[in-house]
Amino acid sequence: GGFESLGLNPNVFRGIRRKGYKVPTPIQRKTMPLILSGIDVVAMARTGSGKTAAFLVPMLHRLNQHLPQGGVRALILSPTRDLALQTLKFTQELGHFTDLRISLLVGGDSMESQFEELAQSPDIIIATPGRLMHHLSEVDDMSLRKVEYVVFDEADCLFGMGFAEQLHQILAQLGDNRQTLLFSATLPSALAEFAKAGLRDPRLVRL
Ligand code: AMP
Repeated sequence: GGFESLGLNPNVFRGIRRKGYKVPTPIQRKTMPLILSGIDVVAMARTGSGKTAAFLVPMLHRLNQHLPQGGVRALILSPTRDLALQTLKFTQELGHFTDLRISLLVGGDSMESQFEELAQSPDIIIATPGRLMHHLSEVDDMSLRKVEYVVFDEADCLFGMGFAEQLHQILAQLGDNRQTLLFSATLPSALAEFAKAGLRDPRLVRL
């Protein structure tokens, strides 16, 4: 059950090697084959478990390369600017050998510079919910309909920070043809309800 048995694209496998990962962590071993098979997954995983790579590696494998007319194909929602920045750095490192374009939409940066990034037709958006909703309301032709891979990272924090309404609004803007993943340390009832609304027959993975 190493990384080499997952059948990853060579460019993604090289990114893993470059990052220095030799063997998958337990959460990676449990979630990656399921995610790669295309199903929705709720994973109970904490920071430090290797959860970020657990959803980034299958994402990079699936997207593989920049598609000029592809629109936004992957969306990662983070509860905080700091986590979003860290996830961006991870994505750039693991995706070093791909030409995928990533746009970071977080509060605290200027809307203008983010408009410019969005004009470069990113394949991946990493965002905090408030700033993503702000962009969706400002930019008429910004669409999440083609997004095929969605991650709610540290979902209990997303809810704990009062983003519930924005998260439901974001769900409503996504197309049906997507894979949705929810990573969370805990699964309070509000979150279980959200998973029921936003995920399709999700497999629950816990360590
Ligand atoms: P995370 O839980 O995603 O915040 O990751 C915690 C730390 O584990 C990060 O520094 C990762 O770079 C590292 N990490 C993730 N996967 C692996 C792996 N398979 N082997 C070694 N380190 C890893």
